[in-house]
Amino acid sequence: MISNFYDVVIVGAGHGGAQAAVMLRQLGFEGTIAVVGDEPELPYERPPLSKEYLAGEKIFERLLIRPAAFWTERKVGMILNTQVTAVDPAAKRLTFASGGSLEYGALVWATGGSPRKLICSGHDLPGVHAVRTRADVVKVMDELAICSQVVVIGGGYIGLEAAAVLTKLGKKVVLLEALDRVLARVAGSELSAFYEAEHRAHGVDLRTGVKVDCIEERDGRACGVRLEGREVVPADMVIVGIGIVPAVQPLIEAGAEGGNGVLVDEYCRTSLPDVYAIGDCAAHANAFADSATIRLESVQNANDQASTAAKAITGNPEPYKATPWFWSNQYDLKLQTVGLSTGFDQTVVRGDPANRSFSIVYLRNGQVIALDCVNAVKDYVQGRQLVETRARIDSALLADIAKPLKELSKVC
Ligand code: FAD
Repeated sequence: MISNFYDVVIVGAGHGGAQAAVMLRQLGFEGTIAVVGDEPELPYERPPLSKEYLAGEKIFERLLIRPAAFWTERKVGMILNTQVTAVDPAAKRLTFASGGSLEYGALVWATGGSPRKLICSGHDLPGVHAVRTRADVVKVMDELAICSQVVVIGGGYIGLEAAAVLTKLGKKVVLLEALDRVLARVAGSELSAFYEAEHRAHGVDLRTGVKVDCIEERDGRACGVRLEGREVVPADMVIVGIGIVPAVQPLIEAGAEGGNGVLVDEYCRTSLPDVYAIGDCAAHANAFADSATIRLESVQNANDQASTAAKAITGNPEPYKATPWFWSNQYDLKLQTVGLSTGFDQTVVRGDPANRSFSIVYLRNGQVIALDCVNAVKDYVQGRQLVETRARIDSALLADIAKPLKELSKVC
C-alpha cells in the first residue's frame, strides 16, 4: 500500500537516489522515505553496463546497489516503474505519468539524464541503441548473435568501453568521432592519442573528424551509417554514445533555476523550497573547476552530493567540496582520474605510454589540477594530495618516475 505523503521523496532510483536514502538512514533519520524511479529494477550500478555486464561477465543481481531486503529492513519505500511528470512546489506534490500523485516534506531530485539522440534520419530505427539503462544493454545483448559489424558513434568513455567489449566479443567495430580526437571533452591530447592507438591495435576501425549524415535502413532495420561525404559504413547494429540530456524538465517547469541541469547551491538546494538536486542532473559551482558551474557525470559525484543533501535534510548541513574522481576500464587498461583537467595550460607525462603504465599530470598556472593514471594506481592514490593542495612542483620532478608523488607533495 502506497501512502500519499512521505517526509522525504527521492525521484530517481539510480546511484544518487539510492545513496541519499542510505545516508538518511545512516544519519539516524527516522521519517518516512520513498524512492520513485521510472525503471523497473531496484537501484543498480550503471558503470558495468558498458563493461562487465555487456561482456557477459557479471549477472544483473551483482549490479544491485543493495539487495531487496536492505530497503525493506530500512523502511525505504521503492515505487518503481513510475515516472514523475510534474512538481507542484507550493502544494509539495508530485504527479506521475500514470495519473497518481504523492506529497513530500522534502524532495531530492536525482534523475540523471537520458541519452542524447542523433537528430538525423534513421536515428530511431530498430538496431540503433543507447547504453544508459539495463534495458538498453539487454536489447544490445539480445541482438548480438545476429550482428557481426557494429558502428559505435561517439568517442567518449561509454563509446570507447562499448567498442572494447564488442571487439573482445569478436565483433568488427567501427568507431566514429566527430571531433579530431576521442575523449576531447575530458582529457588532453596525450591520453586521446594513447587510447586511439590502443583501440586500433585491438582491431577497431577508429575514425576521428567524421560527421554522421544519417542511418541507412534495410528491411526495417539499421544497416549502415552514411557519413557526410556519402560513404556508407555497413552496420548490423549502431550504438550511440554522444552524451546525456539532464532529466530536469518537470523541475524547470515548476520554476527551478537551471537549464542544462538544475542549479544547486553548495548544500545541493535548488531555488525551490525544500527541493534538493544531486548527481548527473545537478549544476553546481565546483571548486575544482575554478568555481565554474558544471555538471559532473560520475558515481563519486552522485554519492557525495547524496551525502550533502542528506546532511542538509537532517539539519547538519556541510558544503559539498568533494574531490572529483572517475575510472574507465578498456581492454586490460584501468584509467583512474582525480581532479578536473578543464582549463589546463600544461601537461607532464610521467612514464612511457608505450609501457601501458603511465600518468598525465595536468597543471594550470603552475599548479597541479588533475591526473589521468593508466595502470598506475600508485600515482592515482598519491596524486590526490597534489590536486587537493594545488601543489606547485617543477615539471622535471613530476616527470621523474623514480620519485613517488607522495615525496613530491612534501617538497612543495
Ligand atoms: P542515474 O544513476 O542515471 O539515476 C537516475 C534515475 O532516475 C534513472 O533510473 C532514471 O531512469 C530515473 N529517472 C529519470 N527521470 C525520472 C522521472 N521523471 N521520474 C522517475 N525516475 C526518473 N561513472 C563513473 O564514475 N565511472 C564509470 O566507469 C562510469 N561508467 C558508466 C557507464 C555507463 C554505461 C553509464 C550509463 C554511466 C557510467 N558512469 C560512470 C556514470 C554514472 O553511472 C553516473 O554518473 C551515475 O549513475 C549518476 O547517478 P544519478 O543518480 O545522478 O543518475
